[in-house]
Amino acid sequence: MDDETGRELRTQVCVVGGGPAGLTLAVELARRGVDVVVLEASKHFNRSFRGESVSPDSVWLLDELGILDRLDGAYVQMHRFEIEDSGHTVLHADFDRFPYPHPFPVELPQHILLSTLAEAGAEHPSFTLIQGATATELLRDGGGKVTGVRARTPDGATTVHATLTVGADGRFSKVREMSGLEARVMPLDRDVVWLKLPFPYDSWDDRTYRVRIRGDQHGLFIPTRPDSVRVGFNIPKGGLKEIRKHGLPLLHQRLDLLAPELSDTVRKHIRGWSDTSMLDIFTTVVPRWSAPGLVLIGDAAHTLTPILGQGVNHAIIDAVTLAPLLEDALPEGPAALSDATDRFQRAREASVARSRALQLRQERLFSLGGRLGGAWRRALYRAVDHSERLTHKVLAGAYFQLQKPGERVAKVQQDVHG
Ligand SMILES: Cc1cc2nc3c(=O)[nH]c(=O)nc-3n(C[C@H](O)[C@H](O)[C@H](O)COP(=O)(O)OP(=O)(O)OC[C@H]3O[C@@H](n4cnc5c(N)ncnc54)[C@H](O)[C@@H]3O)c2cc1C
Repeated sequence: MDDETGRELRTQVCVVGGGPAGLTLAVELARRGVDVVVLEASKHFNRSFRGESVSPDSVWLLDELGILDRLDGAYVQMHRFEIEDSGHTVLHADFDRFPYPHPFPVELPQHILLSTLAEAGAEHPSFTLIQGATATELLRDGGGKVTGVRARTPDGATTVHATLTVGADGRFSKVREMSGLEARVMPLDRDVVWLKLPFPYDSWDDRTYRVRIRGDQHGLFIPTRPDSVRVGFNIPKGGLKEIRKHGLPLLHQRLDLLAPELSDTVRKHIRGWSDTSMLDIFTTVVPRWSAPGLVLIGDAAHTLTPILGQGVNHAIIDAVTLAPLLEDALPEGPAALSDATDRFQRAREASVARSRALQLRQERLFSLGGRLGGAWRRALYRAVDHSERLTHKVLAGAYFQLQKPGERVAKVQQDVHG
């Protein structure tokens, strides 16, 4: 890499975005000796209310990549999943009944995952991470092929010339927008309000994911490190203004309905709207994930909803799938690179589509209102609950798409090379 002026960099791969997708890809490329520069807009790794639930498949991948050992003590395994509808448990699953090397999802603060990945990358001389660097423009050659990125950094403008540019810049991807690749954003009917409370150890165990439903309202209650619970509850699309008009008591009452045992805690700790944050729920379908000189990964290629914590999972699997393809293709030239990015999309899109379909089915079930709708939903959950095979099948769609007893990551990558 040539860095004579401090403003002109040359690299094989420029990754825009140092989230789970971008950093995992950069570490996996650097480990293979590929020159990689990561541009990350934020100066720090702190993310509030972001991807802390990590799926069992990703836990397994992080283990295989040698990252899980470095995270020792930073995460908590979750043992149980439980849906309560109108006050009754209608579906539950104990993760230790799943016969995989890593059956448990974990709760892991995203800033710890990201700083651990950055530390792992920094051990390789071909890895460069520039924080506080916002990509503002794509460089192109005369034929329109992307040849790198221009970025704004605290030290002024920086130009990164790259054989391949990777858009790993999340759900509002600027790289995707600048590339002209088509993206179909599909808003869901509801948004989610998130807040954090001290964990109610006297009423709940802290190894269980809880979903509570009443009528057409639902809440997710996710134990979070350290000593808190993340609460996400649905509101009508764009409905925050309306709720705010009625003041905090309405928010308190909404939560009373779903989790009366948290009533006192909610009133004590949620004293203003600044104690909450709103997530606009949508899913994005991008028909083509690549263009000459460019590829999208993670949320930039396929934004999912927060249901069943799938975003970080797919971000990590994307990275692990793409890295070996790029390692082989980079020395071979543009045609091999285009072929590699096409193969990457073909290898990944069916799995992403399965997760999206599962999330949309769940979303439709959550939003069923009225006596009949609620009764139908409860009957369906109970039918799944009564059959271990069905419970396994439903959860496997979300959590166990990769793992098979005894299979290793090299096999996953071989399949893609296949
Ligand atoms: C409120 C909320 C809760 C969530 N909870 C979960 C969960 O529990 N489990 C789960 O699996 N998923 C969850 N998700 C989704 C999950 O966070 C994402 O799917 C996942 O982080 C995607 O990883 P990524 O690397 O593709 O993108 P991101 O994590 O979004 O990372 C993109 C990075 O790009 C940077 N960036 C953006 N623009 C630029 C630019 N122009 N130049 C340089 N850098 C740029 C950003 O600063 C960011 O660091 C949640 C999402 C939200 C919003």
